[in-house]
Amino acid sequence: MIIKPKIRGFICTTAHPDGCAANVRQQIEFVRGKGTVAGLPKRVLVIGSSTGYGLASRIVPAFAGGAATAGVFFERPGEVDRTGTAGWYNSVAFEREAHAAGLYAKSINGDAFSDTVKQQVIALIKADLGQVDAVIYSLASPRRTHPKTGVTHKSCLKPLGTAFTNKTVDTDKGTVTEITIGPADDAEVADTVAVMGGEDWEMWMDALDAAGVLAPGVVTVAYSYIGPSLTWAIYRNGTIGRAKEHLEETADRITAKLAAREGRAWVSVNKALVTQASSAIPVVPLYISLLYKVMKEKGLHEGCIEQIHRLFAERLAPGAHPQPDEEGRIRIDDWEMREDVQAEVAAAWPQVSTETLPSLSDIEGYRVEFLRLFGFGLPGVNYDAEAATLQPLPSAS
Ligand code: NAD
Repeated sequence: MIIKPKIRGFICTTAHPDGCAANVRQQIEFVRGKGTVAGLPKRVLVIGSSTGYGLASRIVPAFAGGAATAGVFFERPGEVDRTGTAGWYNSVAFEREAHAAGLYAKSINGDAFSDTVKQQVIALIKADLGQVDAVIYSLASPRRTHPKTGVTHKSCLKPLGTAFTNKTVDTDKGTVTEITIGPADDAEVADTVAVMGGEDWEMWMDALDAAGVLAPGVVTVAYSYIGPSLTWAIYRNGTIGRAKEHLEETADRITAKLAAREGRAWVSVNKALVTQASSAIPVVPLYISLLYKVMKEKGLHEGCIEQIHRLFAERLAPGAHPQPDEEGRIRIDDWEMREDVQAEVAAAWPQVSTETLPSLSDIEGYRVEFLRLFGFGLPGVNYDAEAATLQPLPSAS
């Protein structure tokens, strides 16, 4: 099949297998270029390992520390006449590269919220790894079927209390408009917390612990976001922010439970980046476009792989200091939140319109990165050639 991007709103419905493989290789090359990081965890479970921050969290310990990795994700494989999802092709590419480097890498494709997948992962760890030294929790999902009640909760991105009006961008068309989003009701808040809060992370850690597959000194990390005040109404003070607060509180509970095995749960607050999850949030893509321009001009720009490399090498590696904030969270959003960066973004915000978007923001950089998420626009890939949509996971064969 000759595969071209098909963009529908904030999603691209096609993905290019060779482009996704090139994207994964570039991230691996970045990590290799930084050299080995001593003392990284050797057996790592990544939940949500196929795209964005989770994929980077699989690549870094594998290629900076030689880790064996087990990955969990929910992706669609390709069919003869239909492409798979980018996360599927990323995972195929990751496994191929890991195996070529002599590293253990196996993956489970299924609903991480379910008891079944948790038990499959436990069986895999018992059979192949014995225990894991690190568990990275990087799920981003619009819905979760609760394993105990069977209820399917849907998350939403809404403010609390009052309606919120601000600018937003249609990244495809390049138009800046005002958007008004009505406040969430109590049920919507509870549903969003059920999907994106910490309950499932805790269920994972409880299940792994009960099965005896957590190694002494195990570390678990989940990812959060705070961002600047101009997005707080929709993000940090909105439904998703409530879920992130719950996730952050969960870290303390997990740490207490892991005390006997000298384990520790961390929340890492990461930078705003173009991923499939963030492109769905109103207002945030416009903020990211402005942020990218400022951070690139200052030489501070990072993608997922740079962020996660800094997390492992400079905050989590033995001898490194996690530098927690007063709430005990790791802050690798430190460069995004620098006063000079935020002052420039805040100054540009009132000026940005459809007309000024190309000059005031890095909308072009946003679009390039968005397409790259789906394997388009990578150097060295012939997009006019036939590509094989059917790509089995090496570990499944
Ligand atoms: P993403 O959309 O790129 O990745 C989500 C991952 O979750 C994929 O691997 C997907 O397969 C997996 N997944 C979703 N539903 C699943 C299910 N039911 N079962 C198994 N796997 C499932 O998202 P991302 O942006 O990398 O987000 C990961 C985490 O990082 C989230 O907690 C997010 O809030 C946080 N974060 C993101 C940003 C950002 O700007 N993108 C910033 C800070 C923190």
